[in-house]
Amino acid sequence: MSFDCVVIGGGAAGMMAAIQCKKNNMQTVIVEHTAKLGTKILKTGNGKCNFSNTFMDKEMYQNNNADYAMNIINRFNVDDTIYFFEDLSVYKKERNGYLYPRSEMAASVALALTGKIQELDIPVYFETGVKRIDRAADEYVLRLEGAKTNTIKTKTVILACGSAASPSSGSDGSGYKLVKKLGIKVVKPLPALTALESDKKNMKLAAGVRAFGNVKIMAAGREISQDTGEIQFTDYGISGIPVFQVSRFAVRALDSGMKVEAYVDVAADIKENELVSMIKDAVATRKHQSVSESLSGIFNKKLVMMICKDIGIEGNSSASCVNDDICQKLARQMKSLCYNITGYKGNDYAQVCQGGVDVSELNGNLESVNNPGIFFAGEITDIDGRCGGYNLQWAWSSGAVAAAAAYEYCNG
Ligand SMILES: Cc1cc2nc3c(=O)[nH]c(=O)nc-3n(C[C@H](O)[C@H](O)[C@H](O)COP(=O)(O)OP(=O)(O)OC[C@H]3O[C@@H](n4cnc5c(N)ncnc54)[C@H](O)[C@@H]3O)c2cc1C
Repeated sequence: MSFDCVVIGGGAAGMMAAIQCKKNNMQTVIVEHTAKLGTKILKTGNGKCNFSNTFMDKEMYQNNNADYAMNIINRFNVDDTIYFFEDLSVYKKERNGYLYPRSEMAASVALALTGKIQELDIPVYFETGVKRIDRAADEYVLRLEGAKTNTIKTKTVILACGSAASPSSGSDGSGYKLVKKLGIKVVKPLPALTALESDKKNMKLAAGVRAFGNVKIMAAGREISQDTGEIQFTDYGISGIPVFQVSRFAVRALDSGMKVEAYVDVAADIKENELVSMIKDAVATRKHQSVSESLSGIFNKKLVMMICKDIGIEGNSSASCVNDDICQKLARQMKSLCYNITGYKGNDYAQVCQGGVDVSELNGNLESVNNPGIFFAGEITDIDGRCGGYNLQWAWSSGAVAAAAAYEYCNG
């Protein structure tokens, strides 16, 4: 059996790539090693699928490959993505630039894509993997394993196997093995957009609190990243969107053996001297209550309990005992809670991986320089974006651009 393009992996990037190939009349097949297409899409955006963002800037892609990412995204951009989905009757809902389907159901995005694949009559080899990819004259020979065990020939291959993040959705890191067999370098994949673990004393006292604040990551004493938003305090460390945003830097630093600390400022919107005045006023006004009660109009009580313990007083003690020195210490601690970072939540928890196919091995068309006709799309590449729709946008853009380049390769 002979194809123009074999797409390996039926996630966001692979489905986009296969649809674009078939629209160009290329004989296309999807090889998917699970029994379903688009499983990860169902998990996105808390089940609502934040599929893109109207604010697009290279700062949204967090490593040195941001320019490479933007060159691809500019060729199939946010407007192209909106138009593509409108054409499938998936209309957008925008919230502060974040784009969701109007239905606010991730399943509606997956269903629209699988519907188009059916309509275009694109065959899908489910529960089938690829054992080997060999070059033979001007085509590739793929040996399949699993439900299909035959050998197929193709002019081009688009590898869209995802990463190692969220292995229950099928992206189990097996794509990297195929890439390495082709002699292509893979930058060590590590979790990104994940929570950070700590051995901070007293942290369990604040478990369950969500508070607006700033988180700053220090590695070997140097600031490497910071972000602001709703921080979640947990019994193992810290989580929430701002922690996700900075986590890739903390994870990479930990992996290279550095000492990593997170400094959390839960009063990021006010200066320390203003905070001291607020605390002094509160403990004076409510001196008949406990410290944590008296400050509960400023901070969550559980957070105050932890902070009191950190500075060596009991949150249940009387506010009347809090002198100016203690007010100062409380304010300082609230503005600079130190979490010694000892680890991070792994691939089962992480939303994406950093690392993957080294883009220095690719030309500007997502094609392997040393394996002409082999293209890459989606998270398998060493591109990772911030939370906010940037990873799915990368999947749509790279899928569409890889497909267009595969068409050029076949017809150029
Ligand atoms: C909980 C969660 C929430 C998220 N929320 C958002 C969000 O709101 N917005 C956003 O932009 N991003 C979000 N992301 C990230 C986004 O989902 C991914 O970046 C995107 O889905 C990657 O698409 P992909 O096609 O590259 O990979 P995947 O979607 O992982 O698809 C890869 C496919 O390839 C298949 N496969 C893997 N290996 C092989 C193999 N060897 N042979 C055959 N098939 C194989 C897999 O089974 C899978 O179907 C979220 C991720 C998670 C886990």
